Amino acid sequence: MSDTLLDKNKIWQQIDDEKENMLQLWQELVNVDCGSGNKAGVDFIAQKIEAILKTLGFATTQVEFEKAGNTLVGKIGDTSKDFIVLLGHMDTVFKDGTVAERPFKIVDGKAYGPGCLDMKGGIVIMLTALKVLLANNYSKHGIKVILAGDEEVAHYLSNASETILAESKGALAAFNFETGFLDQGVVTRRKGRYEFTMEAYGRGAHVGNDPQSGRSAIIELMHKGLDIEALTDFDKGINFNVGLFEGGTVSNAVPDYAKLTCDTRYTDYALLEEVLPKLQAIAAKQYVPDTKTVLKTVTEFQSMDEVPGTAALLQLVQEAAAECNLPQPTAKAVGGGSDSAYATVAGVPTICALGVQGVRNHTAEEFAVVDTLFSRCKLFATIMLNI
Ligand SMILES: [Zn+2]
Repeated sequence: MSDTLLDKNKIWQQIDDEKENMLQLWQELVNVDCGSGNKAGVDFIAQKIEAILKTLGFATTQVEFEKAGNTLVGKIGDTSKDFIVLLGHMDTVFKDGTVAERPFKIVDGKAYGPGCLDMKGGIVIMLTALKVLLANNYSKHGIKVILAGDEEVAHYLSNASETILAESKGALAAFNFETGFLDQGVVTRRKGRYEFTMEAYGRGAHVGNDPQSGRSAIIELMHKGLDIEALTDFDKGINFNVGLFEGGTVSNAVPDYAKLTCDTRYTDYALLEEVLPKLQAIAAKQYVPDTKTVLKTVTEFQSMDEVPGTAALLQLVQEAAAECNLPQPTAKAVGGGSDSAYATVAGVPTICALGVQGVRNHTAEEFAVVDTLFSRCKLFATIMLNI
């Protein structure tokens, strides 16, 4: 038996010994309302994690934002070159009061509670693996932990994505502890997202007395919504969803204002660049005379792409899984965005979705398989020993 194998057995055993602590921390992180809009809640989580990182020897900073949850950055070892980036987010999609409605619980080996899967479990996995590795004097690579406080809203009130991009430059590899999949897929590619609004301005009028002087902003946008959706091309890899439609005040007035919000997903940034002029043309077009439409970008989330080194990194993850006697992780491309995109924009090979495994994230039915909290922790520790 080689020394490294001995070390691994010891580390796996120590992770087993951490099980109770892991469940305790998981519960503590889930049982805080910290939706993206609840800055105080997210910042509370950030402080808690920052304190843990400090006890592990990390130098930490928080990038503070006025309206968004802070970004937490922790560094240990030589982070000037060949360092490892560990990514994640501290916010959830759930509104205040969710914790009181359905706090953390475990039933039949499944954990429930807001964000248990996406992605409090992943944070527990990362912190516990670091705790055990560092207790065994791990120093092979410098490590940067970067946790955003507003990932679920694509950082629209912060510049967290710039921090991730800047801090990732020069890294050897990045791992993101986002929602793990039950089919064992780990994510190497994610679609990009572009969210925009069109606001139409018309002219109000009384429907009984003076209907013909009205210019309906709603009618204008109904046409435009259809034009937008017609740009969807699933074969090419771009699709549009006019998911929100607002306008008008009462049924007896011609509406002078309407607004639509559209979510766009694309597999490749070039596809988005191609449709942007088309969206501008749709906005400029006039179906109802005298109306005016304004196009605005709400959020933009880059696509996560495979870069040179991604395939080798995946192989390393697969070999570590084999060593841990776990099912083989397979490469997966998914539609949902994550901060892994900004590591790949920095040119860093990145594997995403290494968190606890489960289903139905972003819903009240979200659950995570408790055993995978431990198995994924062993997997990640093994990856760190092998890389
Ligand atoms: Zn997430």
